[in-house]
Amino acid sequence: MSALFDHHVHSDRSDGTVSLEGRAKSVAIRPHGVSDHYPWRDKLRNENDLKRYLEDASRLGLRVGIEYDLGVAPPLSAGLREALHYVIGAVHQVEIDGNWIRYDDAGAYVKGRTKLFKQAERFSDPELQRRILERTLEVVAQGIDRDRIDILGHPTFSALQALGDPERVYPEEWQERLIALCVAGGIAIEINESYGVPHREFLVRAARAGAFFSVGTDTHFELKPLDKTEAMIAAAKLRAESFLGGSRPRIDLRSSTS
Ligand SMILES: [Zn+2]
Ligand SMILES: [Zn+2]
Repeated sequence: MSALFDHHVHSDRSDGTVSLEGRAKSVAIRPHGVSDHYPWRDKLRNENDLKRYLEDASRLGLRVGIEYDLGVAPPLSAGLREALHYVIGAVHQVEIDGNWIRYDDAGAYVKGRTKLFKQAERFSDPELQRRILERTLEVVAQGIDRDRIDILGHPTFSALQALGDPERVYPEEWQERLIALCVAGGIAIEINESYGVPHREFLVRAARAGAFFSVGTDTHFELKPLDKTEAMIAAAKLRAESFLGGSRPRIDLRSSTS
């Protein structure tokens, strides 16, 4: 599986530490694109910033995507969406009753940067869990219908992931609904090396439903091996033909299957 294309790589054009030039060099190690956060503070604030990013990265020979912040980012203009090689949509927080429920602490815990998830009690509330799960499906559906994302990034990452067993915090019925949205929308499900998601049962269900997949290390530092990802792919017995190779699902896979 050494030819897996890594779609999810950050640079210093958002919160990564490596320049676009550095990213262009590491393509020789193994194939990857760049996909910085949009929007991102003072760096990728609007479509003008995005156009410059696309031009600069393309000039270096990189495949260029973005990590579009679902539920937060403004709608993408059709022209810019088409000009990008792919768009990863990902959820980093959800809005419930006007309050933003942020996943930063959960993310740090899941990535092993903190030893304790201090908000475990708060997120153990069944009603809050139910609201988070429902809102997640809504913003993913909007990302597919309105923004035409190509890939769902770190699909089962949320503050609930930090609580433990994903088969317990994500009801099977909810997993099936999320998978159905991706399959019906023709978008790929990302296997994310940094968060270690989705778990095996989810991947098996997705494959059974006919999903496409995409690989993303989500690295913000130097390019890392895809060890965890390859083990996840093997454990779920996913077929190599169902993976994107740096383009949109339509370009990469649909034409070969129709
Ligand atoms: Zn992300
Ligand atoms: Zn990312």
